[in-house]
Amino acid sequence: MEHPENNEEYKGLAVNKGIEQPSSVNPYLKRKPKKRLFTVADYVEGIVKGNITILSQAVTLVESVKPEHQSIAQEVIEKCLPYSGRSIRVGISGVPGAGKSTSIDVFGLHVLEKGGKLAVLAIDPSSERSKGSILGDKTRMEQLSVHPASFIRPSPSAGSLGGVARKTRETIILCEAAGFDKIFVETVGVGQSETAVHSMVDFFLLIQLAGTGDELQGIKRGIMEMADGIVINKADGSNIDKAKLAAAQFRNALHLFPAPDSGWTPKVLTYSGFYNLGVKEIWDMVYEYMDFVKANGYFDYRRNEQSKYWMYESINEQLRDSFYQNAQIEQMLGEKEQQVLNGNLTSFVAAKKLLDTYFEELRK
Ligand code: GDP
Repeated sequence: MEHPENNEEYKGLAVNKGIEQPSSVNPYLKRKPKKRLFTVADYVEGIVKGNITILSQAVTLVESVKPEHQSIAQEVIEKCLPYSGRSIRVGISGVPGAGKSTSIDVFGLHVLEKGGKLAVLAIDPSSERSKGSILGDKTRMEQLSVHPASFIRPSPSAGSLGGVARKTRETIILCEAAGFDKIFVETVGVGQSETAVHSMVDFFLLIQLAGTGDELQGIKRGIMEMADGIVINKADGSNIDKAKLAAAQFRNALHLFPAPDSGWTPKVLTYSGFYNLGVKEIWDMVYEYMDFVKANGYFDYRRNEQSKYWMYESINEQLRDSFYQNAQIEQMLGEKEQQVLNGNLTSFVAAKKLLDTYFEELRK
């Protein structure tokens, strides 16, 4: 290599010729292998064999917003469908502080006593806003999180409640294909997420506390109507009597509701998750319910209804996304909104103009 500094005019400067650069600093040093991309068949094979790493990666694809991930995910789900369905799915709801994590930890150990595998999933629509899911922290379930037969997955975070719920439902399918025969879906008992959970489980368990005044709210929000079992937690120490009283109140309140389609009369029990008291009775109830609804046909009926519900939900979600993600619509939305706010356009006309534009865009 020529060094211009060695020119006559730069007196007192001399740059030595360097040594040749070796082709590789260390030929034995292995390059970090590129992360291998799995094919749909790889995912399905791994999942069906019960490979947890591959299952987790597939769930990540389900949760991804990238269209290319979604298309692989949908194929994987479709291929896993024939292996799914053979589980009991239990929704567990309760306000923050009701003792969900403590309870799920002991519930999980209880249902795993007889073997099998348990997946704990969650629906927490607040997780995107708070950027940290209330239900996301695995360490909340200390014993279960280190149990070899458990798989704990925090709530998917992106998108609307409908989107989050769909992803959880799809994750159920993958988990079942991976041999998980018990699925818990946890949700915070504060809003519409219960409806979403109810639409994907066989049994909906509502955790309540004594004497919080929440009982009435549960009635108002229609959550109690969905419950197949109401369990009053923290029935320990000086709280036992209060819990029993609350149980009696709940039993009375349940009489106000029309009898559920399942023909099952929801039960109210008291327990202590922390001291592991009354947990067996709760699961005896769940298993009794399963036998009952399997015998009278409601189990299959409910699952079919849920499949139907999710078909329409998926249609709605995709139509909505396709509309709002359309470039032309994105451009027009703000302007139309402003015109409505200024009183220059009625809401109805604005909506029609946007929809007409969208349909025209589709024809292009
Ligand atoms: P989550 O927000 O619904 O998940 O509730 P946690 O499981 O985090 O419990 C909230 C608080 O209640 C914690 O301080 C627990 O130790 C306490 N707790 C949970 N279960 C019981 C119980 O059965 N008895 C008593 N006394 N406290 C409990």
